[in-house]
Amino acid sequence: MSDCLFCKIIKGDIPSKKVFDGEHIYGFEDINGQAPVHILLIPKKHIPNFTDVSSEDAPILLEMFAAVKKLAHENGFSESGFRTVINEGPDSGQEVFHLHMHLLAKRKLSWPPG
Ligand code: 5GP
Ligand code: ZN
Repeated sequence: MSDCLFCKIIKGDIPSKKVFDGEHIYGFEDINGQAPVHILLIPKKHIPNFTDVSSEDAPILLEMFAAVKKLAHENGFSESGFRTVINEGPDSGQEVFHLHMHLLAKRKLSWPPG
């Protein structure tokens, strides 16, 4: 999608701080980090929302989960823990309509979330 912010980041038209680059998934630092580690993991394919995922996207989701595990080990928060978030729709405050998983770590995260 030519007018999608995250598609532009994948293409390199908008710069980003890369932390993961796989077959299906690109990972980069959130521009407005809410924790010492705040990474966004996005499919290289434009999938607008959580509810647009279909069974053919299984390899994408598998790599997304594998990326979280790899990043946790590499960055030393597999023991201390982390939180993943996928926002969907107005009640969640979703701003970008290209599927993305937030990965937050390296601080105590309160529950319930705000
Ligand atoms: P959402 O609210 O849609 O779940 O999350 C969108 C996220 O994208 C926000 O955390 C926001 O800070 C991040 N974001 C928005 N624009 C940019 C950008 O141009 N670069 C990066 N790295 N992150 C962005
Ligand atoms: Zn997109």
